[in-house]
Amino acid sequence: MRVLVVEDEAKIAGALCAALGAEGHEAARVGDGPAAVAAVERGGVDLMVLDLGLPGFDGLEVLRRARAGGWRGPVLVLTARDAVDDRVAGLDAGADDYLVKPFAVAEVLARVRALARRGAAEASRLVVADLELDIVERRARRAGRLLDLTPKEFEVLLLLARHAGQPVTRRMLAEAVWNDVPRATPLDNVIDVHVARLRRKVDDPFAVRLIRTVRGVGFVLESAGCA
Ligand code: CA
Repeated sequence: MRVLVVEDEAKIAGALCAALGAEGHEAARVGDGPAAVAAVERGGVDLMVLDLGLPGFDGLEVLRRARAGGWRGPVLVLTARDAVDDRVAGLDAGADDYLVKPFAVAEVLARVRALARRGAAEASRLVVADLELDIVERRARRAGRLLDLTPKEFEVLLLLARHAGQPVTRRMLAEAVWNDVPRATPLDNVIDVHVARLRRKVDDPFAVRLIRTVRGVGFVLESAGCA
């Protein structure tokens, strides 16, 4: 994991970076709010260990700006005071966990490990309405029921799920699922047959239909479902 340590106390920051490095993480440190936001915006930050009391602007503002900019990585907040207000504000602003100073470095490492695991588990799963795709196992469930999909059908569903709420064109499906390059006879019929079979499995047994045809464009997986 690429961990950004945001801490203005050089001694603490140094100890954290060394310990994270020894655990196999790629750790970097910044010492103020603006530098932290700039680092997140540059990219390459998977997880943040974030002190709340910082020069420039504080850790809560860093968190708000990072989340507002679309950054979704886990955040472990460090707070000097055991103030309930700070914790609540931190969690409200999008922190995943917090530690009260003074803390043992081993405790930080344990929390980072837990957050990294949780992040990996979430990335291997995609949920749209009552549909759940396990990207590692290549399996899909709807309303908890395992769907009997062929590998191609799963790939079609995965592409639709990754663009849930937006139309997916037959061209996109041809390229992503069939590795097809544009050619004279498109794969449209093959794609339509697969989507029809997919619908029989994903939609027919259930009251709410999720896969909708967008005429002249392609298909959309509804994130809310349509009757
Ligand atoms: Ca501080």
